[in-house]
Amino acid sequence: MDIRYCPKCGSEIKGDKDRCDNCGYDLSMFKEDGERDVSTVYLLKKKDPTLAGILSFIFPGLGQIYVGDIGRGILVMAIAFIIALVAVLTNILLYVVYHAIQIYDAYREANRYNSLLLEGIVPW
Ligand SMILES: [Zn+2]
Repeated sequence: MDIRYCPKCGSEIKGDKDRCDNCGYDLSMFKEDGERDVSTVYLLKKKDPTLAGILSFIFPGLGQIYVGDIGRGILVMAIAFIIALVAVLTNILLYVVYHAIQIYDAYREANRYNSLLLEGIVPW
């Protein structure tokens, strides 16, 4: 059986319960209602915005990949390489600014991902 997670607090849900044991969040909206496929949401785990930011601090794009946006993460990485090259030849501040923006972007994406989970929407 698949492991399911509470979309609010991220703790594991054991068995077929209507409320989260940890935070009391109402899970009944995540049951199959025949109209929309919410079963996938149920299986997704909440992401940590701080961890997303730290990963993108280590390397731009890593945080985006952690949140689950692989395409965006790879794009951010590719652009980081190009800007790093240009910055080394011209102005290093260019790269610093880009890097900072991507840290914030990963953090924001994780928050967006979490709020979509709470609404019962598959983020990607
Ligand atoms: Zn919970």
